[in-house]
Amino acid sequence: MSNPIQIPVCCTCQSKDVTKDAWAEWDPIKQDWVLHSTYDDEFCQECEQSTKLDWINAEFPFEEIRREDGNYFNSWPEAKAAGYRDDQIWSICENDGVWSYGPPHHYVNHIGHIATAESHDGKTYYVEELDLT
Ligand SMILES: [Zn+2]
Repeated sequence: MSNPIQIPVCCTCQSKDVTKDAWAEWDPIKQDWVLHSTYDDEFCQECEQSTKLDWINAEFPFEEIRREDGNYFNSWPEAKAAGYRDDQIWSICENDGVWSYGPPHHYVNHIGHIATAESHDGKTYYVEELDLT
């Protein structure tokens, strides 16, 4: 499994509304400020104070399209037959309580396929850890 999408959260309150000290520089082509470099100081807008960031796996951000009966598609071809393009079809695999949403070609520990209205780039993975407690 490669490079799951991760997002920073506040280590105190788990808020995603966090920022990091940075310098911006003016880009004359874009006519906008662009990121130049980032620094160590991190701030939580929720706590309204300095914080340290924890990194968590991002949840799958798109609406899942399933079969009409509410189940996952059994296979990539079945999802294609339902009218979705390859870049709209995701595989869902499970391994040690971790679900990963990725490109459609995976079949090891395969649970099913879903489609999304959005396209994926063929190399992005979202990982969700199931709460087994
Ligand atoms: Zn916080």
